[in-house]
Amino acid sequence: MECIGARNMAITAVFSFPTATSSRRLQLSYRPPPLHFPPAAAAADEKRKKMCCKELRIASGGAGSESCVAVIDDFADEEDFVKAGGSELYFVQMQRKKDMDKQSKLADKLPPIATRGEVLDLVVIGCGPAGLALAAESAKLGLNVGLIGPDLPFTNNYGVWEDEFKVHHMDNLFPDLGLAGCIEHVWRDTIVYLDDGDPIMVGRAYGRVNRDLLHEELLRRCVESGVSYLNSKVESIVEATEGHSVVVCEHNVLVPCRLASVASGAASGKLLEYEVGGPRVSVQTAYGVEVEVENNPYDPSLMVFMDYRDYTKQDPSSLEAQYPTFLYVMPMTSTRVFFEETCLASKDAMPFDLLKRKLMSRLETMGIRILRTYEEEWSYIPVGGSLPNTEQKNLAFGAAASMVHPATGYSVVRSLSEAPSYASVISNILKQDQYKGNLGLRRSNANISMQAWDSLWPLERKRQRAFFLFGLALILQLDIEGIRTFFRAFFRVPRWMWQGFLGSNLSSVDLMLFSFYMFVIAPNEMRMSLVRHLLSDPTGAIMIRTYLNI
Ligand SMILES: Cc1cc2nc3c(=O)[nH]c(=O)nc-3n(C[C@H](O)[C@H](O)[C@H](O)COP(=O)(O)OP(=O)(O)OC[C@H]3O[C@@H](n4cnc5c(N)ncnc54)[C@H](O)[C@@H]3O)c2cc1C
Repeated sequence: MECIGARNMAITAVFSFPTATSSRRLQLSYRPPPLHFPPAAAAADEKRKKMCCKELRIASGGAGSESCVAVIDDFADEEDFVKAGGSELYFVQMQRKKDMDKQSKLADKLPPIATRGEVLDLVVIGCGPAGLALAAESAKLGLNVGLIGPDLPFTNNYGVWEDEFKVHHMDNLFPDLGLAGCIEHVWRDTIVYLDDGDPIMVGRAYGRVNRDLLHEELLRRCVESGVSYLNSKVESIVEATEGHSVVVCEHNVLVPCRLASVASGAASGKLLEYEVGGPRVSVQTAYGVEVEVENNPYDPSLMVFMDYRDYTKQDPSSLEAQYPTFLYVMPMTSTRVFFEETCLASKDAMPFDLLKRKLMSRLETMGIRILRTYEEEWSYIPVGGSLPNTEQKNLAFGAAASMVHPATGYSVVRSLSEAPSYASVISNILKQDQYKGNLGLRRSNANISMQAWDSLWPLERKRQRAFFLFGLALILQLDIEGIRTFFRAFFRVPRWMWQGFLGSNLSSVDLMLFSFYMFVIAPNEMRMSLVRHLLSDPTGAIMIRTYLNI
């Protein structure tokens, strides 16, 4: 959608949701829902009836009177809307629709899904990294796999710990991802600045993923393993006879399958059910620019994971100062640098225009002069929130399956490394189901899906997540000084612990040990707030219950 001149706008738009629980209305252009239910889906899908189509009006914060309708789309509920981009939806769409000419079209390389008669073993919905990886790995095991989703390129700037892309971090329990060739730039070490004191060397090489190569490689794997493809958006998934599912796409195209796995990103509420009463989703937002500059002070051999230094004495009452942010820096050369102003997590997403203002003022104060801008990035990552309901028949993977790390916003390595094992569980349960069917036994798809859900979210994973959600809730309460104090203590725990924490490879027991160390090291004030947080925040009680499995 085109809206010229919208880049610097302040966005002031929120929706009205005609649900029992919420009827918020700020500035919104709302129209009654022109829903078009495909006949096959109409009766079965109660949930979709609650949805509404919305028109998001983005109003100019500047002097002009421009306004722009960002999207007409539908969401399952308010949480789903927040996960999709909320009031920042327009920028999220700009990020998704960036031109990436070098990436192949899926439809040019994959054969079309046969939409008549054939029942596919598995339909994977969504063509992000998680969907492509799961489709390829499942087809490799002999399943007849169809991939459905808009034929869009990868547009995000992905960063990874270099070793994670070469050999999986969990002591080679998982095979090499074989993706080292997709890293376009490696920094020999990573650095963190908290204040004007000595910086912290992380002691781990960091890499920037070449998204064109990653897209090409995952697509190559799909081609090689025989995945078929339909360029469409999925509207719903409905139960059909024989225990099959029917994936209902745009223009009433129906694709029958034995199982469907939703990998359509964080905002998948219209295709999946999520646990009710879980923690509210928070958002990590970041505005980045890849630029040619003069006076870059950063060493090109080091990646700057976080620079929390005070770049200027801000007016504490200014909006920018109310959100604690840090600078993430990838110096590609001494003059070409990717700078990203990042708000680690916030209950209400820090708006992109504030992030941009803060970044530009930071660079100016540091004496960095931009000569040329190659690219802008609007990074919107929902973190936390509920897990999918693990009793539903439809499966999920990637951000849709809440696999995004609540404390860091990362999910790509987890999705890519778990795709082979998850595919193998799916393949096994489909084989068992076929065997039962051949013997004329009654099939129970709900139960077989639970095996897959359990492999994705075993108790150990749930414990780790409960711990991270507790940490996330704590971070959300901290101001910039509180965050610095937190990270000062964080980097004083034994190195293997904080390295493991950043690389997401600490077990739930390790995490407890980690919190014990943090407690011992932390200044009294932080200890008090940790205890208060544990006793008063609901995530404390959830963490204790999950650890004790009660
Ligand atoms: C700018 C940015 C930078 C990020 N950087 C990192 C990083 O460095 N490291 C990291 O680990 N994570 C990062 N993340 C977070 C997260 O890991 C990514 O969002 C990641 O792309 C999630 O992968 P996914 O495949 O689960 O979902 P997505 O990449 O969101 O893919 C979902 C796909 O589903 C499609 N889809 C949506 N709805 C439907 C539908 N109804 N029917 C069919 N298809 C549908 C979409 O078009 C999309 O192609 C970043 C996120 C952003 C936005």
